[in-house]
Amino acid sequence: MFQVGAVTVTEIVEMDMPVPVTLAFRGLDDEDPARLRSRFPAELFAPSGDPLLIFRSYVLRTPQSLIVLDTCWGNHKERRLDPYAHLLDTGYLTAMAAAGVDAADVDYVFCTHLHQDHVGWNTRLVDGAWVPTFPNATYLFVRSEYEHWTTVSPGSYGHDSFTDSVLPVVEAGRHRLVDPGHAIDDTVRVEPLIGHTPGHSGLHVTSRGEEAVFTGDLFHVAHQFARPDWHIVVEHDVKQAMATRRAFLDTYADSGVRVVPAHFNLAAGGYLEGRGDDCRYVPA
Ligand SMILES: [Zn+2]
Repeated sequence: MFQVGAVTVTEIVEMDMPVPVTLAFRGLDDEDPARLRSRFPAELFAPSGDPLLIFRSYVLRTPQSLIVLDTCWGNHKERRLDPYAHLLDTGYLTAMAAAGVDAADVDYVFCTHLHQDHVGWNTRLVDGAWVPTFPNATYLFVRSEYEHWTTVSPGSYGHDSFTDSVLPVVEAGRHRLVDPGHAIDDTVRVEPLIGHTPGHSGLHVTSRGEEAVFTGDLFHVAHQFARPDWHIVVEHDVKQAMATRRAFLDTYADSGVRVVPAHFNLAAGGYLEGRGDDCRYVPA
């Protein structure tokens, strides 16, 4: 748990997984990931040396609202294209309850994008049907992101999760489409970080002089702070994603703004210091 001003942030972990950089990323050229790794906090890496990816939600308790940011893979979902996430049965909801979060109290669910590992717990299986996990919440989807996934055809990557984890929310009348810059309340607004997917966006928190950006999948591994051209194989628009990473680093390096990627094994994120070969990520 950590604070950004008056906002309390709690992480709910679903699972973790080491991911070999050379398998999952492109654009590495002859660079040695191990050499770059040595400058970043050791917690970010599994004993194998591969980055350890965490699948988690963040729960933001602001003075005005209770917000769930991203919803992991979910239980009982058929994910044949992602075998490690196929028909999961995890204790995510138990973990959430143990953290003092009642699903019925959640005001908003925000998905940084509509990939499988960010929408799963939008719904859960009840009597054979997918129903919203957070029954009283308004689910906020970025308009351009939502519209993109309505065009993805059956069998294509991501169609399965759109069908069982997004459309049931829409059919239940619980969603709202928002545009970049949308203010969820006085402390939290939607910050566009486009490229990984067409409407990929983070959340920017400002409270009592403190700031944090939850960056979703703009960065999957710390190496990308030094090498924003590295891109994960599932990046939708590689050029745009690279440009967004570069612009983000220009804006937030040495800014004092906390940077919290979705999948890093540092729950409270950290601060970017320096640029390029001199860049460091200092745990918050
Ligand atoms: Zn992700």
